[in-house]
Amino acid sequence: MPWYESQLEKKILNRRLINEETGCWLWTGGKDGAGYGKVWCPYHGGQQSVHRVAAMLWMGYSLSDELFVLHQCNNPSCFNPEHMYVGTPQENMDDRSKVGNQYRREQRKLDDEAVRTIRALHSEGVKGKDIAELFKVSKKTVSYIVNHKTYADVGED
Ligand SMILES: [Zn+2]
Repeated sequence: MPWYESQLEKKILNRRLINEETGCWLWTGGKDGAGYGKVWCPYHGGQQSVHRVAAMLWMGYSLSDELFVLHQCNNPSCFNPEHMYVGTPQENMDDRSKVGNQYRREQRKLDDEAVRTIRALHSEGVKGKDIAELFKVSKKTVSYIVNHKTYADVGED
């Protein structure tokens, strides 16, 4: 490790607060708006994110790498190398949207076939109330479906 990296290592370990419960290494220095620790690294082009510096020091990560350093603990100010992993921008997005996707899946109760049938019945003049009864859903659900406010991705075939 070059001397300036051991300096950097000393510097960031001096600003570490260990959360005994989670094992997170919390940064006690300056942070950006998103909560990521910031540290001045004159030998690495100036201000850098602390978790990326930690990944460089202890995980073999290169600061010029296009890959992301992601948190398993969802704590942006944490720089414990055991709580981080290196991933692609796509994995970064997936990580963020996992919770949302789960929610959307659970909201989805009707299969594509049912949605198409509901729309077909409606266009044949069957009343929303009767369709709702047939599919054991609310009238509102039927109205949203026929107006393409929900299940908009289900095409007619
Ligand atoms: Zn952590």
